[in-house]
Amino acid sequence: MRKALGRFASGVTIVTTAEGDDEESVHGMTANAFTSVSLDPPLVLVSIANRARMNAKITETGRYGVSILAGHQEPLSLHFAGAATEPDLVRFTWRKGVPLLDGALVHLSCSVTASHPAGDHTLHVGQVEELWFDDGRPLLFYTGSFRALELQDDENWGF
Ligand code: FAD
Ligand code: NAD
Repeated sequence: MRKALGRFASGVTIVTTAEGDDEESVHGMTANAFTSVSLDPPLVLVSIANRARMNAKITETGRYGVSILAGHQEPLSLHFAGAATEPDLVRFTWRKGVPLLDGALVHLSCSVTASHPAGDHTLHVGQVEELWFDDGRPLLFYTGSFRALELQDDENWGF
């Protein structure tokens, strides 16, 4: 499964949640199982391992943020996967009561509309309540490694 699905290139996100506006309660984790679901209403989903601490936290808070990482944010991705410790790089911006990672390309603030058990993961569908985006190179994940996107025209990052 991992060898096959690792050939589906993805971006990389940090999923975040918090209890109300309590900065002490903020929790984040790296996820690439993120997808756009619906435009009307605007829905996305994240697939979170049942054993991840994040799973119980999203169930409790009913809200989550998705920060789509920029190319230079690989260290943050490793940090929020528990594979490295880079606390000095972690800075949050709050949107609609949800913490999001500074320096990301996209911020989505979501409220959970449904959570579906799916094997050893849970699919949390979220309605997007606020979004923000910038142009720039994304961080990519392919065959278990972080990659950069090669673009012909450096000026043409957005669309
Ligand atoms: P922990 O493992 O306890 O926390 C994750 C890390 O984030 C810890 O180092 C913690 O110190 C740090 N952290 C948390 N909150 C804060 C904070 N407020 N300030 C500073 N640091 C903080 N798993 C999935 O379930 N779904 C996926 O789609 C998925 N995709 C992945 C994609 C990639 C590229 C990688 C590398 C991993 C992916 N994982 C995915 C695995 C997942 O990121 C790890 O298993 C992660 O450790 C699970 O986090 P946790 O909620 O159990 O919390
Ligand atoms: P990898 O080679 O394990 O990942 C390749 C692909 O396999 C991923 O992009 C994903 O599509 C799939 N995958 C991997 N682990 C999975 C899991 N536990 N559940 C569902 N799908 C999974 O990449 P890696 O560098 O060994 O990953 C680092 C760590 O991050 C591993 O512990 C891996 O399990 C975890 N991870 C988890 C998920 C996920 O839960 N959806 C996704 C990617 C990575």
